[in-house]
Amino acid sequence: MKFNPAPESGLSRRKMLKYCMSSSLAAGLAPVLWLSGCARRRRAKGPDVILIVIDTLRADHLGCYGYFRNTSPGIDRFAADSLLFENCFSHAPSTSASVASILSGFLPHETRVTNKTVMSKKLRTLPLLLAPHGYRTAAVVSNYVFREKRGWETGFDVYDAQMKGRELNRSIPERIAEHTTDRAVKFLKKFRKENLFLWLHYQDPHGPYTPGAEFAELFKSNIEKKPRILELNEKSSGRGGIPQYQKLGENRDFHHYVSQYDAEIRYADRHIERLFDILKELQLYSDSLIIFTADHGEGMGEHDYYFAHGEYLYNTLTHVPLIVKYPGGSAGAKKDVVEHIDIAPTVLKALNITPAHNLRGCDLAGSIPANREIFAKMETGMVKDNIKYSLLADGFKIINTPLYDRYELYDMQKDFGEENDLINKTDYRQLRKDMKVRLERLLQQDLLKLGKVNTGELSEEELKKLKTLGYVE
Ligand SMILES: [Zn+2]
Repeated sequence: MKFNPAPESGLSRRKMLKYCMSSSLAAGLAPVLWLSGCARRRRAKGPDVILIVIDTLRADHLGCYGYFRNTSPGIDRFAADSLLFENCFSHAPSTSASVASILSGFLPHETRVTNKTVMSKKLRTLPLLLAPHGYRTAAVVSNYVFREKRGWETGFDVYDAQMKGRELNRSIPERIAEHTTDRAVKFLKKFRKENLFLWLHYQDPHGPYTPGAEFAELFKSNIEKKPRILELNEKSSGRGGIPQYQKLGENRDFHHYVSQYDAEIRYADRHIERLFDILKELQLYSDSLIIFTADHGEGMGEHDYYFAHGEYLYNTLTHVPLIVKYPGGSAGAKKDVVEHIDIAPTVLKALNITPAHNLRGCDLAGSIPANREIFAKMETGMVKDNIKYSLLADGFKIINTPLYDRYELYDMQKDFGEENDLINKTDYRQLRKDMKVRLERLLQQDLLKLGKVNTGELSEEELKKLKTLGYVE
């Protein structure tokens, strides 16, 4: 199954095509892969693994994915050295569940991780898998849900969750990209002579969109002249209007919010590129396996859902960037449909490590099966018991909301924006039946069987803070 994400405009589509052509040198044929002839001589130590996850970043707001604004010059340059996966999907529209799948290679209904749970110590995440093979493991995280004593630190030699910044409208701490990169550089220097697995989580595009004075004006000049005034919601939901925690003064213009989201991306991009530059200075860039992705996207008005995530399973929230730079430098663009659970097996394969247990995903450097079933789960607590499941397979996507016994069906080739629900169309009766069976079958498969979920002891204050994140009602 292969399809293109739908760019926002004709201009975006042209730009994406230009990117793919120039980066592939292969007359527009995709998927493409070639090897750089300038691979550095490998050092005695094994490749470092650097996993960069950025919060709340839609793939289609990056230049290298065809966006019309220059939001990501640094990431675009990195993409030119790397394999760019045009069709990657996350397994959840919220942070904890999504990242648990990235780190473990298993699905949200198996990891059982949500923003309210403590991650099970039985979950075999990448740091636990790599440590026995001589890897030092370090993490620098910048989102409150990764605070200490919630299980995320398990397996890391050093786990840096120092967040001292305060965001507008929210009482929770966070860390801005400048400081995330600064800490990452400290660890890179400290463990320079050892094999290192480093997980970095950047937080900046997550609302409220406050990019700082230097970046705030960057994209205001090309916003549309006619304002589109939105409602301001009383709660943290993005349904039908601006979530309370996103309020930017008295401004309720849709275009202003998008410009500020884009400026947050540009701000983070500067410090992510600084990280790449320092890796080059330290002579670590060429031989490292570097993986860049986002935990989930963000609603930008599609489906009447604004500047939020966590409440739907549409592509605006699950289609994410995935850019992989291999040691030695394979580069190009790939249209294969891939998923976050492919990241763990890709890391292990690149290091020639055979895990003691079977992983669900596949090695992104190998051949990727065409008949994949890509699963996602939404469980946010915004509305009690309102869970959603989705399955993407054979070019179609089914979404189930059990609370309302509701199903939706979309054609991913013709309708990537999911505006034309086919569920009640007679021509799709058999497909609907088949997709329901496949979704149900996948949900019944639990390869981990971790047992009871531990929510730890959430204090009143922690619950209050999670509410301001928009994840708990
Ligand atoms: Zn997130």
